[in-house]
Parts: sequence; structure tokens; C-alpha cells
Amino acid sequence: MTVTDDAVGVPAPPSPSPDIDSAPFWAAAHDLRFELCRCTDCRAWLQPPLERCRHCAGATSFEPASGDGEIYSYIVIRHPSVPAFVHRLPYVVALVQLAEGVRLPGRLLGIEPEEVAVGQQVCAEFETLPGADEPALAFRVISPEDTARG
Ligand SMILES: [Zn+2]
Repeated sequence: MTVTDDAVGVPAPPSPSPDIDSAPFWAAAHDLRFELCRCTDCRAWLQPPLERCRHCAGATSFEPASGDGEIYSYIVIRHPSVPAFVHRLPYVVALVQLAEGVRLPGRLLGIEPEEVAVGQQVCAEFETLPGADEPALAFRVISPEDTARG
């Protein structure tokens, strides 16, 4: 395979594989809305989504979430393991601690890998890549120079 700088001939990114628990997340994402599973009784946010609350066994539903969070951990991807992302190397996938108290992974936008630091503030953003069936959850770093530690 020849790696080129442009996106011509780049394979489509992987498609989501919704299951009965995650289908509402992807339905909201389709409309570019960020929603997470929440207990309708004790109001705890639940990730991964569950049919019943792990704290009180109450019913759950999906509700709009802030999308605000901070980088809990991250990895820099340098190996072309996903063909659709070959021309984006290197890129960063972060595990984000959301304001709702749960964590979700996503590719970081708006920052170079060497500038990323744990604790930086991010906000959720959906990006629809060329050839993609559905938008993908990503996180945009907000003012890294203001929030980077150490
Ligand atoms: Zn509950």
C-alpha cells in the first residue's frame, strides 16, 4: 500500500456497531447531539450504557450531556493500524473525564500530539470523515496553553 498526503483513495473509516444499549447514543450522534445514559431515579450518569442503573437498579434513558471534560489519559497513534486514518498520522486518542463523571474515548482535534497534556480542557465534537456512514465522537482541546500543567 502506498501512503500519500491527500485523501484520494483513502478507505472509509470504520462504521459504528450499535447494540441494544448503545443504539440511542448513535441515534443522537446521527443528529450531532451528544447524549449519555442516565438513571431516571438516582440521576447517575452511566457509561457504558445500561438497561438498569448499577447503583439503584432504576430505569435509564438517554439525556443531553454537556460534552465538557478534561483529558484523563491519552495515546499517540503513530502506526497505521486503521487505514482510514493513515494520512492523519500521528494523531491522539484521549480518554476524557466528562463533567458528568464518566469517561469516553475520542480522537483529539485542534492540537499537535506533542502539545497534549493530562488535565487539558476539551469539549465533545462530532466529525463526519470522508466516506463515513455516521459522525464520530471526537474532542476539541480548548486553549491548551491556558490549561496545560507541568
Ligand atoms: Zn440509579
